[in-house]
Amino acid sequence: MSRPIQAHIDLAALRHNFNIALTYAESASVFAVLKANAYGHGLSRCASALRPCMRNTDGIALVEIEGAIALRESGIRHPILLLEGFYDPEEIPLIAEYQLIPTLHCMEQVHALIRAALPVRIPVYLKLNTGMNRLGLTHDEFMLALSLLKTSRQISTITLMTHFSDADCAAEGVGITMQMQRLQHLLHAAGNPELPLSLANSAALIRYPEIRGNPVYGARPGIMLYGGSPFPEQQSAMELGLQPVMTLVSKLIAIRDIAANDRVGYSGAFTAHEPMRIGIVACGYADGYPRHAPTGTPVLVDGLRTRTLGRVSMDKICIDLTAMPHVTQGARVVLWGQGLPADEVASASKTISYELFCALAARVPVTVTAA
Ligand SMILES: *Cc1c(COP(=O)(O)O)cnc(C)c1O
Repeated sequence: MSRPIQAHIDLAALRHNFNIALTYAESASVFAVLKANAYGHGLSRCASALRPCMRNTDGIALVEIEGAIALRESGIRHPILLLEGFYDPEEIPLIAEYQLIPTLHCMEQVHALIRAALPVRIPVYLKLNTGMNRLGLTHDEFMLALSLLKTSRQISTITLMTHFSDADCAAEGVGITMQMQRLQHLLHAAGNPELPLSLANSAALIRYPEIRGNPVYGARPGIMLYGGSPFPEQQSAMELGLQPVMTLVSKLIAIRDIAANDRVGYSGAFTAHEPMRIGIVACGYADGYPRHAPTGTPVLVDGLRTRTLGRVSMDKICIDLTAMPHVTQGARVVLWGQGLPADEVASASKTISYELFCALAARVPVTVTAA
C-alpha cells in the first residue's frame, strides 16, 4: 500500500472550462496555455483532452520546445505557439521541422531568424512591450523588426502580441487601459498594419469585452482552464462557472488528543489553549503543499471544513478535529479541488492557485477521470 496522497485530474472539467473560454472569445482564436506541464496537470493528457473542443484556428501555447515536439509526435496538428520563442538559434531548424510558431520578443531573435536558412516559411508572433517591461520590443525595435520581417522570405504570417500586467487588478477598467493605449500608439506609428493581435490572458478574456470577441484579437487563457479564478478576490471560480480540474486528496494517518498548552509541530508554531483533537494528514511541502500555509488554512475532512494547525512539514500537516469527534483514522482529506477551491488555500498562504498547481510534486501519483 503506497502513501495515500493522490492528485485527481478531471479532464471533463478541463473541457468544460475551455468551452467557457471559447464562449468569451466568440470568433477570436483561443490558444490554451499548457506551459509548465499544463500548470502541473499533465501536458499530454490535457492536450489530448482539449483536442476535440478546439476549432481549427485554436492552438496551444507553451514555453518548452521539448513539450511542443512531444505534442507534435503524438499527432497534434493544431498551431503550437512558443511564448518565449527560442533560447538558442540552434532550435530554429526544429521549430521549422515541427511547424511551431516562435514568439520573437527581442531583436536578437529577429536577426537570428532572418539569418537562418529555412526550408519553409514560418509564422511568427512579434511581442511588443506595452508596459509589463519583461519581454517585448520597444517602439524603435518594433519598427525595425516589422520592416525586416515583412521583407524576409523566411516568414509567412506575423501576429502581434502583448501581455497585460494588470488585467486582474481590483479596479475594473483601469487594468488594461494604459497598455491598450500604448499598443494603439505603436500600431499607429507603424501605419496601422492589418495584422492579427494576440492579447488576452484569462483575466482580460473574462473581463474586457472590448478585447474579446474580435476575430483579430486572439486569446491565451491559462489559469481559467484549470478552474482557478484569475481575480479570486473579486470573483470566485464558482461564480465564473469554472470547475476545479485538480483535486489533491490524502488521508488521516493518525489522530491524537492534546491538552491545553501542548504545542503542535516544528517550532511549536501552534499552541492549544484548550484540550483538542488533532489529525495528521499524509501531505507536506514535498508533495507541493505550500510550506507558508499558516494555521487556519482551510482543509476538508470527510467533506467537512476545518483548518490546519502549526507548520507544514515535509510529509505531514496537522489539522483541527476538535469539532469532529466522529472522524476516524483513514478519513479522506481534500487539500484543494472538489469542494475546496484552490484559490482559498492559495489566498490563505499568500500566493495564487497557479503556484499551488505548478508545485504539485512528481512523487504524488495522479489519477485521471476523462468523462
Ligand atoms: C502564462 C501566460 C498566459 C496565461 O495567463 P493566465 O493568467 O494563466 O491566463 C498568457 N500569455 C502569456 C504570454 C503567458 O506567459
